[in-house]
Amino acid sequence: MAQAQEAPIAPPPTVVIGDVPAEGGMALLMVGADTTPEGFVEVLRSAGCEAEVVTITSGGAFELYAPAAPPFANASFPAMLEAGRGVLVRCAEPTVVDAHLLRLVSKDRPLPEGFVPQGLTPLSSELVMPGGGPAYLTEEAADALAQLIEAGDRAGQELRVRSAYRSYAEQVATYQYWVDVLGEVEANRRSAVPGHSEHQLGVVADVTSASVGWELEPEFGETPEGRWLKQHAWEFGFVESYPQEAEAITGYDYEPWHIRYVGKTHADWIRLTGLTLTEYLAQVDVDLD
Ligand SMILES: [Zn+2]
Repeated sequence: MAQAQEAPIAPPPTVVIGDVPAEGGMALLMVGADTTPEGFVEVLRSAGCEAEVVTITSGGAFELYAPAAPPFANASFPAMLEAGRGVLVRCAEPTVVDAHLLRLVSKDRPLPEGFVPQGLTPLSSELVMPGGGPAYLTEEAADALAQLIEAGDRAGQELRVRSAYRSYAEQVATYQYWVDVLGEVEANRRSAVPGHSEHQLGVVADVTSASVGWELEPEFGETPEGRWLKQHAWEFGFVESYPQEAEAITGYDYEPWHIRYVGKTHADWIRLTGLTLTEYLAQVDVDLD
């Protein structure tokens, strides 16, 4: 980040942190160590924003303005901006957010018992693992998942769905199973207390592969299929809800198989900011009900 740069496309303006342009009150973005400012610019422009690469002359905390999420505007993130290059962005018209897609569901934030997502649709049996039962997602998530799995097939990485939508009643049964098998403390790390499962949203799938016997185990993350999924899920609007070494933030053990659909724009933001989904959704803090 801080090292000398190869020649940029146009001479970048110099910006000091804190110098948010008065007109529009838009923000300066940092660029994660594993991404390029140009990548950010592309995303921002596709979201209808003006964006340009700038030189950052001093580091500090940064502010992020996410065009697709109005409540997100000018949220402060627990991240530091390094001297180097960043992106200056002006987005005049925030687009409307699908609040449901960005709803935070966690151990502290349950869904109402009666919550059932609209538009649940059965997944094609070709997307489900051998011997798997019927699986449902919302139409948008189901379409995106079909595209993800087909892309995996084309890349020689056969991923299939083990479970998807889980109703409140099913969560009661699943949770009770784990309490019986593991006891309450371990069950809480492994499974959600009823009403606290992201699966109830209808936009979450557990996907796995033959190389781990279609089981849901952390080793899946190290298989070629698991690695492909980690690398490409965002391209189809999916994010890993429970990444490695994030239990203190997410409340869950590493679950490389558990992916949630948030749409391409947000999946890309999450990738670019390096935040966990939990942190990102807490910032969005969609007000519902
Ligand atoms: Zn899951």
